[in-house]
Amino acid sequence: MKKSQFMISDHPELVRFFASKNPGQLLFFVLPLWSFALYILERSGPSLAGLVLGVLYWTFLEYAIHRWLYHTHFKSRTLNYLLGSFHLYHHQDMGDRRVYNAGFGMIYLLTPTVLAPVLLVTRDPAFLASLTLGLTGAYYFYECVHFLLHYRAYDRGYLGYIQRYHFHHHDRAPHKNFGNTSHLWDWLLGTYDARYKNYLMPAATRKSLITEKTSEALRA
Ligand SMILES: [Zn+2]
Ligand SMILES: [Zn+2]
Repeated sequence: MKKSQFMISDHPELVRFFASKNPGQLLFFVLPLWSFALYILERSGPSLAGLVLGVLYWTFLEYAIHRWLYHTHFKSRTLNYLLGSFHLYHHQDMGDRRVYNAGFGMIYLLTPTVLAPVLLVTRDPAFLASLTLGLTGAYYFYECVHFLLHYRAYDRGYLGYIQRYHFHHHDRAPHKNFGNTSHLWDWLLGTYDARYKNYLMPAATRKSLITEKTSEALRA
């Protein structure tokens, strides 16, 4: 059998391990991490520095994973086949809502991986638990934002700004504007494209939004 470009097309059953239906389902996978962090903080008290650094750490990871993992073309075909499923597939089919949010497989692989280097530097439980809370809280915020961006169109406010920013990346500049919740790291690392301010959503992109698809199904 001829292989598709991305693993998700050949093995749709894997979606349930690596994706969530919506941020509500994802909350069930994030809650145990928050409960564990809060349990530790109940004894030792929170560390403000840990919380702030955790949020900053996530915003950097959000940028780094998107730019250097998802948008890099690797020599290995297997790696492109596998990693493309997580994001380039989303670029190819913006209307497939199965892949708007990550699932428990991603969360429980990623969290220990990104926390391990911090463990080597510090063994302070209050700092580590606060960092985990800041990081996973900012991560969950990102997942909610990404879902909402593909849910409906926004004219103004934070969601209006970040929708133009993200959809400019989707539709016009896939090698710019990698941030999904802010333009901080794009601006610091030279991939900021201010032309997103003039972005007007094309009809095809509008049709891919959840609310548009739902009203289309109701009309049919
Ligand atoms: Zn998107
Ligand atoms: Zn992208």
